[in-house]
Amino acid sequence: MVGCRHNAKNTLPKNYLYFAEKNGAEIRAEVEVTDVRPSTGKYEVTHQTSTSLFKSKQTVRANNVIFSAGVMGTMKLLLNLRDVKKSLPNLSGRLGTMVRTNSEGLLGSVARKSDINYSEGVSISSIYNFDEMTRIEPVRYPDGSSLMRFLAAPLIDTDVSVPMRLLKFIGWALTHPIDFLKALFLPGWAHNVTILLVMQHADNRMRFRIGRSLFTLFRTGMVADEEPGYEINAQVKGSHEVTREFAKRTNGVALGSVGENLLGMPTTAHILGGAPIGKNADDGLVDENFAVHNYEGLYIIDGSIMPANPGVNPSLTITALAEYAMSKVQSKK
Ligand SMILES: Cc1cc2nc3c(=O)[nH]c(=O)nc-3n(C[C@H](O)[C@H](O)[C@H](O)COP(=O)(O)OP(=O)(O)OC[C@H]3O[C@@H](n4cnc5c(N)ncnc54)[C@H](O)[C@@H]3O)c2cc1C
Repeated sequence: MVGCRHNAKNTLPKNYLYFAEKNGAEIRAEVEVTDVRPSTGKYEVTHQTSTSLFKSKQTVRANNVIFSAGVMGTMKLLLNLRDVKKSLPNLSGRLGTMVRTNSEGLLGSVARKSDINYSEGVSISSIYNFDEMTRIEPVRYPDGSSLMRFLAAPLIDTDVSVPMRLLKFIGWALTHPIDFLKALFLPGWAHNVTILLVMQHADNRMRFRIGRSLFTLFRTGMVADEEPGYEINAQVKGSHEVTREFAKRTNGVALGSVGENLLGMPTTAHILGGAPIGKNADDGLVDENFAVHNYEGLYIIDGSIMPANPGVNPSLTITALAEYAMSKVQSKK
């Protein structure tokens, strides 16, 4: 989560991007694609610098374009191109549906004593099957990498209203001042913390669309809605019990997160879906080889094509789907 400090071999610049460059690909870093539109039998892809203050635009022409901007990037771009810029107006109405969260919860425990250094070792080295549906991974961070604490909150069950949860939080801080300081302010958080990453393959869904909300500061942008019949619970079933037990056994303070436990909003690092697979554009955004319906030569290959919650960390499954997709593309004779 904070990057490897030990020269990890398995990073993109050393595997896929390295081989892509060896095979003749030109990699343009620090650019954001802002438009893709059909133009005389090809596609025109416009991109602009993403890190400098003064944006300079460039356009490339291509027979084939693969969208791989991750769920948040690909959905935002495609919704924009269909509904705002109208560059790809015939994208399926299914775009942005069936978005999933891996039924994920981020909880944890901060040890009250610092005699054990929980930050040493591999970040994730074990997985625990809590029940048929639920996998839990203890996660650690290198000493000094305590940024995640700004997402942390005391573990409060979400069966009461949001104002009541905030009151409980204040009550807890006043009655447990040392725990409060240890969990949220005192240095050495990464040294003492074990994050419990809870994932379920239970189905849940939401939808993305272009709209306005508090999160877009009421400007036009991508917003999320519930998908009827598929509620996403902020509190993952069983997760609070396990976290409390873990905290008890390690003399720790049980933690939840601000989004989940205080505001009742599901939180995920594993956002998936939004490009459903279907036989035609009424059924799905892409076909079984991830080619976009109604636009020959366009493909989507990233977390957006994941058709279900795997209930475990998803990046290798996304990679496998990408390898599968590439195996379907004919090589140049
Ligand atoms: C904190 C954290 C920890 C995680 N830990 C794990 C883990 O331990 N194991 C695991 O399996 N998974 C983990 N995941 C999930 C995993 O990282 C994602 O599921 C996976 O990276 C998604 O792959 P992707 O190819 O869909 O998108 P990404 O890997 O997100 O790649 C998309 C890329 O497109 C770029 N982009 C976006 N918009 C544009 C645009 N318009 N133009 C050009 N470029 C654009 C983005 O900057 C990004 O570089 C973690 C996720 C997070 C956030």
